Amino acid sequence: MSDAVLKLANLNKRFGALQATRDVSLDLYPGEIHALIGPNGAGKSTLIGQIAGNLKPDAGSIVLAGRDITSLSVAQRARLGLGRSFQVSSLAEPLTVKRNVMIAVQALQGHSFRFWKPVHRDERLLVPAMEALERMALTQRADTPVAELSHGERRQVEVACALALKPRALLLDEPMAGLGPEGSAHLTELLEALKHEVPILLIEHDMDAVFRLADRISVLVAGGVIAHGDSAAIRANPQVREAYLGD
Ligand code: ADP
Ligand code: MG
Repeated sequence: MSDAVLKLANLNKRFGALQATRDVSLDLYPGEIHALIGPNGAGKSTLIGQIAGNLKPDAGSIVLAGRDITSLSVAQRARLGLGRSFQVSSLAEPLTVKRNVMIAVQALQGHSFRFWKPVHRDERLLVPAMEALERMALTQRADTPVAELSHGERRQVEVACALALKPRALLLDEPMAGLGPEGSAHLTELLEALKHEVPILLIEHDMDAVFRLADRISVLVAGGVIAHGDSAAIRANPQVREAYLGD
């Protein structure tokens, strides 16, 4: 197997008396979707926060493409190729789809927003933005204000914002949340194609999507990984069924 793009080793995070993540270790390899599942409060978002740099781990390390990023800032990690989407939407409603993605690119490049120069004239922002929109099947919606989009399309724009930064690894926190069966199936297809370009660490409650998409699954319960394996192994694991699948 080739080297892991992202390597988490023994990540620990405590909030007061609560051990939110406990010795969590997992790897993300090129070309794969690694799903992280677990009940509410299991520590999934806390783990994403530690990887992205919003939360400082109490112990453990995070290595991206061979480089230890554990003590780097959110912005430094993003520049080194850590892409993420947010659970809560941060899109600018009145602006077009294209403009939203361009702003995401511009933010990463560390430029302040230049009001005197229309951002849409800037090719350096437009090219990666349009490429990302194409991957998320949104080329036809590029000039549509975000306010006019369906919920599913917004989710696609959020992924496009992360993609436009050309990440080495993508962290997605519940991208299917709130989507109907059709939206969820569409996003599933898009992610299935995307993983060959960028490996994805996927947090998702939609188990149909997880079992269809994930090459590997780690199950987090009360901050610790209780099981790890491919879809078939996780489906069959009695401990997982009891703790999570409701048997
Ligand atoms: P998940 O994403 O798996 O639902 P979270 O990572 O959001 O779980 O939360 C894990 C646990 O940590 C929960 O019990 C939650 O209440 C707690 N928690 C999360 N963030 C904080 C925080 N900033 N301060 C205190 N407790 C927190
Ligand atoms: Mg969460």
